[in-house]
Parts: sequence; C-alpha cells; structure tokens
Amino acid sequence: MSTTRARAAAILKAAGWEFAPPPIVWSARLTRCAGLFVIEKDSRGVWRPEIRLSIPLLRRRDWPWPMEVCGIRCHDAERVQLRILEHELIHFALWVEGKEWGHTEEFRRIAFERFGHQAITHGIGSEDA
Ligand SMILES: [Zn+2]
Repeated sequence: MSTTRARAAAILKAAGWEFAPPPIVWSARLTRCAGLFVIEKDSRGVWRPEIRLSIPLLRRRDWPWPMEVCGIRCHDAERVQLRILEHELIHFALWVEGKEWGHTEEFRRIAFERFGHQAITHGIGSEDA
C-alpha cells in the first residue's frame, strides 16, 4: 500500500468509516485544483471512484506559509496534503453511502465535526466538487 493510501485508510478509520479508500492517483497534469474526487465508468460499465492529487500543487513547498486549507491554517506541505485528503475522502464516503456527495450541508457538518474543517471547499486552486 502506498504511503498516501495508508494515510487515507487511517483517516477513514479515525473518522469511523469502515471501508477502504479508493485508488489514489498523483497527477502531474492536475494543476487546476489540489485534489479531486472523480467517478468514472470502466469498460464494463462499472462506476469506479478515484481520488486525484495534484503533484504541482501538493508537492510545492514554497507557499507563503501559513496556508489556509479547508479553513484550517497549515504550516507545512504535509498538513496541506492531509487536509486535502480528508476533504476528498468526505466526498468518497458520502458517495459510498449512496448520498449526495457534493458540497452539501451534510458535507459541511461532517467536515466540521470529524475533521474540524471551517470551510466547505479546500481553497487551493479552483474546485468543482
Ligand atoms: Zn470538494
């Protein structure tokens, strides 16, 4: 298991979710936003969830620290990555539970109660979902 996936598994477990994380892909081409939760149909028509993380945005260490991510002040790249992972995993968890998985009121509540996030979007780059 990759380090990132192990981190995601630990986040899910700590938040009380019993399921495993989806595949997590580090992307060099993702420059528009730091993280993205996507579901795509595979060749057999099965929906496959995936979390994509931006190499250019998340491996960057020369931000004007502290950075505000998910409404939380982050002082290093490690923390930024964790906040983004938490955010994308909420999308995933809502999807697994068959719920509306956008930035809904329920999303806001979970983000606040389980992770202390003060913002419903993560705030690095633009974000559709
Ligand atoms: Zn989001």
